[in-house]
Amino acid sequence: MLILDGKEVSSSVRSSLIPRIADFKNKTGRAPHLAVVIVGEDSASQVYVRNKKTSCEKIGMTSTIHALPTETTQAELTEMIQTLNNDGDVDGILVQFPLPKHLSSHEVLQTVSPLKDADGLTYASLGYFFAGAPIVKPCTPEGVMTILKHYKINVEGLNAVVVGRSNIVGKPMAMLLTEANATVTLCHSKTKNLSEYTKKADLVVVAAGKAHMLGKDDFKKDAIVIDVGMHGSGQGGKLCGDVRFAELDGWAKAATPVPGGVGPMTITTLLENTCLLAEKRAGL
Ligand code: NDP
Repeated sequence: MLILDGKEVSSSVRSSLIPRIADFKNKTGRAPHLAVVIVGEDSASQVYVRNKKTSCEKIGMTSTIHALPTETTQAELTEMIQTLNNDGDVDGILVQFPLPKHLSSHEVLQTVSPLKDADGLTYASLGYFFAGAPIVKPCTPEGVMTILKHYKINVEGLNAVVVGRSNIVGKPMAMLLTEANATVTLCHSKTKNLSEYTKKADLVVVAAGKAHMLGKDDFKKDAIVIDVGMHGSGQGGKLCGDVRFAELDGWAKAATPVPGGVGPMTITTLLENTCLLAEKRAGL
């Protein structure tokens, strides 16, 4: 079985961004800049935000963290985002979720300018994307497409099943595969006999958010299996996915592990998107 190594793909994409960023700096006198907004003290979120900053800096991009206290009001958060929308030196804005319960993610997503939406998840960005004229594409599904391209897996004509229909992963994933000429079935929690669908598929992308939900018996021989799921407490407290990866060896043609599969590509695509937004705004 070919292991689709997200770390390797990630490293290759990040290397390719370094000369682009250097060129951007030469032409504009500054580096592409990702502003990350975090509200509250959630410790996992603090780690993710620091990782994003370090990842930016390693390839020559600027990243600033805008940390607000838990008791921040919706109006204060909106004002912070508007300030970043209007700041000529900021190219990408990312609001770290989850937000404290009293704040509306929906409202926040309406506030970020689509021209600075590095995650590609504001309703405006999703609208452009679904209309076939994306400003940037949502990070996680676009990261999956980059993995497939890196390993020269052409999805044209394949029967693909996507498990999960969230705005962040499932729906845009189905759209990207459709655009790449796969024939896509989108499954969800109300799908009857899920396994009947996954077993017929040449390519299955699993994003159900259920640890170890699918295994060898759910896939046909030589299927390509992409596991988007991410769970902090699998067997032995290790990070695991929605798929029982160990069962796939000798059965699947190719699969992404967890950790080290789709995860690293989400953040890499965020860097790529920020770079793209910077270049677009600078007219390059
Ligand atoms: P959501 O909870 O928003 O969506 C889950 C989707 O899976 C829903 O559409 C739900 O159906 C469907 N689903 C749930 N249970 C089943 C089931 N038993 N059978 C079939 N479908 C089911 O999750 P996200 O899309 O945000 O994330 C999915 C997973 O991916 C999570 O584990 C998350 O941590 C991970 N993730 C990983 C990322 C990465 O970088 N690797 C990035 C983003 C997410 P319904 O709509 O009917 O409720």
